Amino acid sequence: MLYFDNAATTVPEADVLNSYMKVNQKFFYNPNSPHAKGIEAARLLDEARAQIKQSLQLNDETILFTSGATESNNMALKGAAYQKRPFGKTIITSVLEHPSVLEVMRQLEVEGFTLKYVNVTKQGQIDLAHLKSLLDSDVILVTCMQVNNIMGQTQPIQDIGQLLADYPKVHFHVDAVQALGKQPISMSGIDSLAISGHKFNGLKGQGLLILKNAHALQPTIHGGGQELGLRSGTVNLPNNVALAKAVRLAINNQEQLVAHLNHINHSIRTRLENYPGIVVNSPKNASPHILNISFPGVRGEVLVNAFSKRDVMISTTSACSSKHAKINEVLNAMQIDKTNILGSIRLSFDHHTTNEDVTLFFEKLKEVYQEVEELLRK
Ligand code: PMP
Repeated sequence: MLYFDNAATTVPEADVLNSYMKVNQKFFYNPNSPHAKGIEAARLLDEARAQIKQSLQLNDETILFTSGATESNNMALKGAAYQKRPFGKTIITSVLEHPSVLEVMRQLEVEGFTLKYVNVTKQGQIDLAHLKSLLDSDVILVTCMQVNNIMGQTQPIQDIGQLLADYPKVHFHVDAVQALGKQPISMSGIDSLAISGHKFNGLKGQGLLILKNAHALQPTIHGGGQELGLRSGTVNLPNNVALAKAVRLAINNQEQLVAHLNHINHSIRTRLENYPGIVVNSPKNASPHILNISFPGVRGEVLVNAFSKRDVMISTTSACSSKHAKINEVLNAMQIDKTNILGSIRLSFDHHTTNEDVTLFFEKLKEVYQEVEELLRK
């Protein structure tokens, strides 16, 4: 089986699974319990937080453990919007965002906030001049992903942060799910940042919300007051310790991984040139773990099935939206031809992807290509 769907999820690292198991067996205690074992568990939780801070070179930031980026995005965006409501009601986002951001935006709009979408360039970049023109004294929240999950393009997060420095009222949230382990994460100019463990060989159900200021959000989950009152519920200590390990491994291996991914990505792009009609959609400077391509004239779903039948796992656009048969908004915003959008697939890699995998992929691609060649618009 060839797994080229690492942007949807990655295989857990053995060390991460081991620490999850070990902590579950030895420290199943509740870190909120007042007894000696609870105190030990609380110490371990503090250590996990400290380790994440160290790995990400953070200082005074607050680390909140969540169940994943969907929860982190919800918590940050709703929490910041409610907190800032007395000062304005305009929120800025773009159509590039993941549904775990866009659906929150739509909900906030229903609740009375004003939603504005910043324009996107053909390269899939946020149009900074347009963003500047949208900024006024009513804006309280701006949200932007660091790396896009469908095309892989990176946003100018630091430039946006600098632009927003003139608007101190604005809370700037970053969805860094597809960035961690592939490029540096910085909190400079950023108020909150969301991460999901399973995208970098951690486990499903592991997330982080990093906050510049612990008081920036109104709680949206109420209860026993854990995680500074922002995320009540018994702390999942084994999960959090394992996440700290996954973060450390991802950061330590980042340089090596990026070099490897660049090599894999380049090798696939080069070999695709032998297949007239196939179009590469991902911009050249996209994160190398994602490569979006089109077979114009053939439907993405047909391609996914044809590859799946041959034991090659790829994705149409993103796993989250590929079941909804509507035109992909990200590719549409990048002014990609409709035929190419409908015929697009996403290949995504991690450190397990080998040269042999690439060779095998092209053996299968050759078969699929021959099968659909008649439909292909060259
Ligand atoms: N943001 C981005 C950019 C993503 O790719 C994903 C996962 N597809 C999420 C947020 C949501 O993460 P999770 O499903 O782990 O909550």
